[in-house]
Amino acid sequence: MAKKTGTRDVIHLACTECKERTYTTAKSRKNDPQRLEMKKYCPRCRGYTLHREVK
Ligand SMILES: [Zn+2]
Repeated sequence: MAKKTGTRDVIHLACTECKERTYTTAKSRKNDPQRLEMKKYCPRCRGYTLHREVK
């Protein structure tokens, strides 16, 4: 198990089109309290789609 890093959380970015969890990243809950949304390339959709943070 990883040791606790306080407000630093691992999150997944899921494609809003196919629900595939394409990206994994980490963010600070203190710096970004809102859900992350960003346009990224989805290999399943074969194009740029909106990806949203999921747990
Ligand atoms: Zn997709």
